[in-house]
Amino acid sequence: MKIIHVAAEFAPIATVGGLGQVVTGLSREVQKKGHEVEIFLPFYRWLEKRTEIKEEGTNLFSTVVEGCKIYLVDSPRHFDREHIYGYKDDVPRFLAFSRKTLDILHRQNNSFDLLHLHDWHTSICAALYRGKSLLTIHNMQYQGKCAIKDLDAIGMDGKAFLASDKMQDDNPFFKKSINLLKAGITFANAITTVSPTYAHEILTPKEAYGLQKTINRYKKKLYGILNGIDADLWNPKTDRTLVRNFSHEEKIEDVHIARKENKRSLQKETGLSEKDLPLFAFIGRLVPQKGLELILNAAHFLLKEKAQFLLLGSSPDKKTQTQFEKFYDKHKESSQIYFHFEYDDSLSRKIYSATDFLLVPSRFEPCGLTQLIALKYGAIPIVRKTGGLADTVFDADDPIPEDRRNGYVFGPYKRKAMDEVLGRALDNYHNDPDKISNLIENGMKKDFSWEASAEQYHKLYERLYRSP
Ligand code: ADP
Repeated sequence: MKIIHVAAEFAPIATVGGLGQVVTGLSREVQKKGHEVEIFLPFYRWLEKRTEIKEEGTNLFSTVVEGCKIYLVDSPRHFDREHIYGYKDDVPRFLAFSRKTLDILHRQNNSFDLLHLHDWHTSICAALYRGKSLLTIHNMQYQGKCAIKDLDAIGMDGKAFLASDKMQDDNPFFKKSINLLKAGITFANAITTVSPTYAHEILTPKEAYGLQKTINRYKKKLYGILNGIDADLWNPKTDRTLVRNFSHEEKIEDVHIARKENKRSLQKETGLSEKDLPLFAFIGRLVPQKGLELILNAAHFLLKEKAQFLLLGSSPDKKTQTQFEKFYDKHKESSQIYFHFEYDDSLSRKIYSATDFLLVPSRFEPCGLTQLIALKYGAIPIVRKTGGLADTVFDADDPIPEDRRNGYVFGPYKRKAMDEVLGRALDNYHNDPDKISNLIENGMKKDFSWEASAEQYHKLYERLYRSP
């Protein structure tokens, strides 16, 4: 089959969080299964164009990244900017991109079999395209709400879509609003989301963010398929940023030695005291979803213990950033904590390869990649039991087969619950090194690569292809 992805992100050239990595990892693996894959992206300012293709009215460039053929759709008014998101006109920007992409595909006689759409940014394509489409929901919280006139602006009859069985927002207070994610849910032939647990959670009012009526209506075409991580891009054996490489094929003692060396070097680089203390870390966007209160709570808790804490995360919100900066300024003299507020891929890799524990106390987490990378790099995840975290991390003391235990898990979004697991992790670290070694081994051995997940996408693609 020939599959066209239409997306806002593609790693590593245009990425903010998990979405970009998922589009890349999935595309590469599906190609290995013999499908032809092409990706349509906005032509962001920082991208390099390789070949220019003459298109009526639109400049189109093509390039190859990570072995995938990419088409870059030019619209300087919308995408000649510094960032991918965060502008007042984000909705019109991605509506324009979606419209232009479909026009181009149409002029090329739509010579493909399936349109694979991602999140609200490109959901509108499901309503505009007459052929088969699949929508992947990476995060239900972001829905792309707008007005009739925004649809009019891309040549649609906006008013005709303001109906409860079309794109009208489900919230009775926003009867005049168009909801773009709803367009995708309603009109796509199938919907996937990024973990089995999240597929159940988004049917509930709490996680559906107002779209529970619509998503329940279409739950027959909803599938939960766990994200993978790209085995070539995330591999402690070959990762060039690490001081010492290591792998699950080595003896656990050698893994410990290599990780300790990485830890020393990271301590040196970040100004943490070079002591043999348990190291905890957080890597991710500093947004409410990620459990901001619990992250700071953990920092407080660990400052009181003989432990170190490292945070790598940027915030789109000034207030949050200031709150974390203030906390850091107050405590940085202790040489026990280090906070870095940028997006820094190479620092993230050094942290994964060195930290003893990685915290993921999310309020909700569709899939989560950081815990998967942590497992691969021998860092023990400490997570809240939600979404993809519940599907991938299993507690050290759970009554399950021992070889499945790979981390620490707490349930309620409460300080007390998190303090309990932090305490347990610290206790095991100091008093039960064999248990810790087992958790690390189990995590590193488990295969979370794209292969298994891409097989499920492959089956779904085939089913859609054959369906009338
Ligand atoms: P989300 O998609 O909600 O942002 P995920 O856990 O699915 O969260 O994916 C986050 C990805 O982005 C991970 O690969 C993580 O390593 C990376 N990441 C997040 N913040 C940073 C940062 N400040 N520097 C480097 N990498 C980061």
